[in-house]
Amino acid sequence: MSVLPEVLAANDAYAESFGEKSELALPPARGFAILTCMDARLDPAKYAGLAEGDAHVIRNAGGRASDDAIRSLVISYKLLGTKEWFVIHHSDCGMEFFTDEVIRGLLANSLETAALGEDGFHDVGTGPGSREGDYIDWLTIADQAVSVTEDVRRIKSHPLVPAGIPVHGYIYDVKTGRLVEVPTATEAGRAA
Ligand SMILES: [Zn+2]
Repeated sequence: MSVLPEVLAANDAYAESFGEKSELALPPARGFAILTCMDARLDPAKYAGLAEGDAHVIRNAGGRASDDAIRSLVISYKLLGTKEWFVIHHSDCGMEFFTDEVIRGLLANSLETAALGEDGFHDVGTGPGSREGDYIDWLTIADQAVSVTEDVRRIKSHPLVPAGIPVHGYIYDVKTGRLVEVPTATEAGRAA
């Protein structure tokens, strides 16, 4: 069963009342960007109070400052004028439950969905798998405060990022919906 019919029906309803959103400008009206995890429990529009047209939201597994996330952030300020950025990781992130070695092993075994048990992920597929996973840096997380701080630091020290952009590092708590400040990230992310 595909979710396609549900998604298209939801889109029909959304488009019915689209109204003045047709007049929105391309650059984000509130001039900021958020880099955050793809986790389904996180809705940046809700947790950060965004409406259509307000801000850029860049998402990937973990909300990590990968080369591709930085590519988007650079476009965000250089071409579309954002002046303030957030890096938001979260508690209970799936990226804490495996390492490069683990996911490489799982993928080498099979391409089917692995099972998550008490002792982490284990493969239940029949294969064949692929060793292509060996060539990907999966950017897993051992400690959220460390990962947020490292990512803020990487963004702030990137040669294509101007010194004047403040980068705020926070951890979203999936049990309360609150953004919790990471002081080491705040220190690393101050605008020069
Ligand atoms: Zn996550």
